[in-house]
Amino acid sequence: MDHFLYRDGALHAEDVPLAAIAAEVGTPFYCYSAATLLRHYRLFDEALNGMEHLVCFAMKSNSNQAIIRLLADAGAGMDVVSGGEYARARAAGVPGNRIVFSGVGKTAAEMRTALEGGIRQFNVESEPELERLSAVAAAMGSRAPITLRINPDVDAKTHAKIATGKSENKFGIPIARAREVYAMAARLPGIDVIGIDVHIGSQLTELAPFEVAYRKVADLTRALREDGHDIRRLDLGGGLGIPYTRSNEAPPLPRDYGDLIRRTVGDLGCEVEIEPGRLISGNAGVLVSEVIYLKSGEGRDFLILDAAMNDLVRPSMYDAYHDIVPLREPAPGAPQQPFDVVGPVCETGDTFARGRELTALAAGDLVAFRSAGAYGAVMASEYNSRPLVPEVLVQGDRWAVIRPRPTLDEMIARDTVPDWLDGAGAD
Ligand SMILES: *Cc1c(COP(=O)(O)O)cnc(C)c1O
Repeated sequence: MDHFLYRDGALHAEDVPLAAIAAEVGTPFYCYSAATLLRHYRLFDEALNGMEHLVCFAMKSNSNQAIIRLLADAGAGMDVVSGGEYARARAAGVPGNRIVFSGVGKTAAEMRTALEGGIRQFNVESEPELERLSAVAAAMGSRAPITLRINPDVDAKTHAKIATGKSENKFGIPIARAREVYAMAARLPGIDVIGIDVHIGSQLTELAPFEVAYRKVADLTRALREDGHDIRRLDLGGGLGIPYTRSNEAPPLPRDYGDLIRRTVGDLGCEVEIEPGRLISGNAGVLVSEVIYLKSGEGRDFLILDAAMNDLVRPSMYDAYHDIVPLREPAPGAPQQPFDVVGPVCETGDTFARGRELTALAAGDLVAFRSAGAYGAVMASEYNSRPLVPEVLVQGDRWAVIRPRPTLDEMIARDTVPDWLDGAGAD
C-alpha cells in the first residue's frame, strides 16, 4: 500500500496534489511519501517482534539526507556500501553503532573513516579484505567487529543483474570455505568475529530462496560455534521484492518474511539484522514528468516525455516495468491505446515502455511513474547535460524540496578549464 491516490480526480501524494508541486518545482521531479516510508519500515520492525533485531535501511536504494533522517528518527539503522554513504548516514545524525558497512571493495581509507566515526560491523566479503581490515584496525589500536558475508549458492530467481547469491557472482565467501576463513579471521589481531552475513539478491518475489539460504546460515552458525566462534549476530540481508504492476500477484509480505526468519534462525539466540531497501523506499516514490510531444510513427505512437533514462535508468538497465499513470484521473472506462513511452536522450535505450496501453494523452499533460522511490534518484546522472532531477518529500499536507534542481550555470561551473588552454582558438 502507498499514499499516491486519486482524490477529486487528481493524483495526490498524501494530502498534496502532485500537479501543485509540478507547478512550483517544474518537471521532471521525484516525490516521496513520508507516511509510506515509515509504514514500510514499521512493517519490518514489527515482523521481527520478539527477536532482538535492527532493521538497517539499504541506503543505496535512496540516500537523500531527509529520507535517512526520517527513517533513523523512527529507529532504523543504515546499511551502507561506500564511504560516501557512510558519510551521508553520519551527516544525517545516524550514530555509528547503527551503521553496517557492506560491499565487495572497501578501501583502507573507507575502513579508517568508519572505524574512526564508529561502526556497528563490517560485512567482509573476502580474505584479502579481512587482512586489509585487520591491518587498518590494528594500526589504529582497535579491533573491527565483523561478519563474513557467505555466498550460499542459492538461485534467487530474480533478474541476472541483481542476483548475488550464486557461486558465479562476485559476492561473499563460498559457503564450503566458510569454516576455514572464519578460522583465519579469528587469528587476525585487528578482527573481532561477531556473526554471519548473507544477501542473495534484490527484487525476490518468493520466500523459498530466502528459506534455503537462511537454513544454510543456521547450520553454519552451529558449525562455527562448535569451532569455538562466538556467533551472536546474523545479518540476513535485503532483497524482498515489491509489486511494480498493480495487476500481478503480490510478492511476500514482511510479516511472512519475519515468520520465516523466526522459523529458520529464531532458535539460535542471535541478534538479527535485515537490510531492506527497495521494499521500504520503492513504492514510496513517484517520478513526475510532462509530455513534450505526441509523435505518430509508422504503426506506433510515441509519447515523448521530459524525463529520460538519466533520471530513471531502471527500464533501460534492467528491463524494469513501471506503471505510468496520468496525474489527471481518466474517466471510468476511458478508451486506451498503445504508446511507446520515451525520453529525449539521444539513445534508443531511452525507452521507458513499448506498446503501453494508456488513456489519451497530449502535450502538456503530466504523468507519474509509480514505484520509483528505490534505485531511481540515486542512479540519476546528468547525461546529455540534463540537470540532476530534483527530489521532493511530502508529509501530510506539507511538502519540501529535499534536493533542488541545479541550474545550468552551477553545472557548467563544476568544470574547470586548465590555464594552458586559455586563449586557444581565440586568435
Ligand atoms: C542492495 C543490497 C541490499 C538491499 O536490497 P533491496 O533489494 O533493495 O532490499 C541489502 N544488502 C546488501 C548487501 C545489498 O547489496
